[in-house]
Amino acid sequence: MKKLVVAIDGPAGAGKSTIAKLVAEKLGYAYIDTGAMYRSVAWKFLQTGADFDGDFISGLAEKMLIEFKPEAKVNRVFVDGVEVTTAIRSQEVTANVSRVAAIGAVREAMVAQQRRMGEAGGVLMDGRDIGTVVFPQADVKVFLTASVEERALRRYKELVAKGEDVKLEVLQQEIANRDKQDSERAISPLRQAEDALYLDTSAMTIEEVTTYLMQLVQEKENVFL
Ligand code: C5P
Repeated sequence: MKKLVVAIDGPAGAGKSTIAKLVAEKLGYAYIDTGAMYRSVAWKFLQTGADFDGDFISGLAEKMLIEFKPEAKVNRVFVDGVEVTTAIRSQEVTANVSRVAAIGAVREAMVAQQRRMGEAGGVLMDGRDIGTVVFPQADVKVFLTASVEERALRRYKELVAKGEDVKLEVLQQEIANRDKQDSERAISPLRQAEDALYLDTSAMTIEEVTTYLMQLVQEKENVFL
């Protein structure tokens, strides 16, 4: 059976990673979280304590080694051998990642790695520009979204369950800001590919979305039998 390239794009907090990880496990595909790659660059930059400078940050992005080690519950991420799985989800990284991801040379370095990781197929990749830029020829393309209120609420519940003290309005504002920056940047902005399937998950459960996507991929796999 042909192993496909599946592109999942969409705004912040739409559940892309959760869904992509589940579908990948069920299908025996690799899962690549491209957001984690941009977060890793932002983390590395913040570690240096340097002022924001595109050339400097691109230099870091070109040299750093980002590795994924998938485990049952979590997709572990390493930068130059150091585990950053939790660190790249910090508020500080989240607040800075969109600026870092808007730098052209940073994107070039990440896209080159993403293409290498996905070229053999059997991969689900999630991000903002997978169906439009990284793999415009992807076999399956989905644009996964939900209302900003619903996305903020899901994130809020997730964080509260972890015992974090967060405010719903603050989360909603943070998500809206990131969507704005990601959609308005000059290079590879967040947008739906023309041939992507649009899926609003506001009123769907994780199980419903997972089952739906699995069927979509399996139908496409059968086309190639
Ligand atoms: O997916 P996640 O929310 O973790 O992504 C973090 C940030 O990385 C996004 O807000 C966006 O700025 C950037 N990103 C990107 N292109 C991708 C994936 C993520 O610009 N393919």
